[in-house]
Amino acid sequence: MHNPYYPARFAVPQLSRYPSAKDINTVRTQFKELDMRLATTAIHVGQDPDPVTGATVPPIHVTSTYTQESPGVHKGYEYSRTANPTRVALEKCLAAIEGGAAATAFPSGLAATTAMLATLRPGDSVVSYGDVYGGTYRLMETVFRPWGLDARFTDDPDPKAFDALIDKTTKLIWLETPTNPLLRVLDIKAIADVAHARGVRLAVDNTFATPALQQPLTLGADYVVHSSTKYLGGHSDVIGGAVICKQAEWAQPIAYYLNAAGSCPGPFDAYLTHRGIKTLKVRMDAHCQNAAAIAEHLMGHGALSKVIYPKLMNHPDHAIASRQMSGGGGIVTMEFKNGFAAAKSFCERVKVFSLAESLGGVESLVNHPAIMTHASIPKEIREARGVTDGLVRLSVGIEDTQDLIEDLEQALG
Ligand SMILES: *Cc1c(COP(=O)(O)O)cnc(C)c1O
Repeated sequence: MHNPYYPARFAVPQLSRYPSAKDINTVRTQFKELDMRLATTAIHVGQDPDPVTGATVPPIHVTSTYTQESPGVHKGYEYSRTANPTRVALEKCLAAIEGGAAATAFPSGLAATTAMLATLRPGDSVVSYGDVYGGTYRLMETVFRPWGLDARFTDDPDPKAFDALIDKTTKLIWLETPTNPLLRVLDIKAIADVAHARGVRLAVDNTFATPALQQPLTLGADYVVHSSTKYLGGHSDVIGGAVICKQAEWAQPIAYYLNAAGSCPGPFDAYLTHRGIKTLKVRMDAHCQNAAAIAEHLMGHGALSKVIYPKLMNHPDHAIASRQMSGGGGIVTMEFKNGFAAAKSFCERVKVFSLAESLGGVESLVNHPAIMTHASIPKEIREARGVTDGLVRLSVGIEDTQDLIEDLEQALG
């Protein structure tokens, strides 16, 4: 049955308990027919005018339930944990911008990661790069390990190091690139080749780069995971996450988990995230320009022992970054020669930058990873990985470049 709220062009597939592979495929075929590029899909997919009123921006569907004509006869929606039109609109857009077959939206990035890991079984193992988001590390170590999932971490970004940790229990390789906060750039294509040669799937957390700078599915990954709290939402006003699958049928266990475990984002949050995504391309261009200018400005500064930015010539993964990413992203990490004392005083002195956790919003933020975002990683492990007490991470916003540079100068001075 056709949902009257969406014209045939984006007809919502008949949803029963959760979208079937066939339904999800139908949606994707419609994207393919349109064959649009990211700046366009980000604005148009899931945004058909409301056929009842003509509203150019579709309404937010604030409802938990859906009135049925007769038992089991309905317009494709039964209960908003299972599916909600505002969320489905966001999911279509997420799949389109990542070039995936299907997407499932979650109430946070960690909820999306949880759904991915919950598709694995006790006795399975996941191989991951060590410098992952602190919450991802904590989830694998303290929630999933007790349930019988073995997480193996390599501190060597070489694809061979991933290969060495794979055995017959391994079901998934988990990557983040660029990594947080050290901004190592891992070779998605080479690691996808390793995974597939061993019959393992590859999931890439694309939160930092976003599809505006790199599309992991095109490079060979099987899943993309997002904290849409960051650049996708883009305005530091909503928490959200997503899993995007290369093959539509792989979305079934993910959507099944969402419904069975109750991990559903509300319609207001879905709307805010979707609204943010519309300006992803222009925001990412501005983030990259500002961050590159700041990285170049800070390089060689007397107070700093390191300035890390993927597009700097001295970055260890510069060659991979050049072919894999169309821009360096909005994050710049620096290390103070005088360690914690200097880092702390810098964090207290910034004025345009705010000292806050998170990243990816239009406003510039500064973060002290060791005390703030990465506090959940034990000190010895954190320091061995290079996340020292003198390290500061900048999430460069899209304010005026010169104002940001002047703020950094006064805080460093
Ligand atoms: C923030 C973040 C997460 C977790 O997302 P939440 O939305 O905070 O749950 C996961 N991965 C990366 C890279 C992040 O930056």
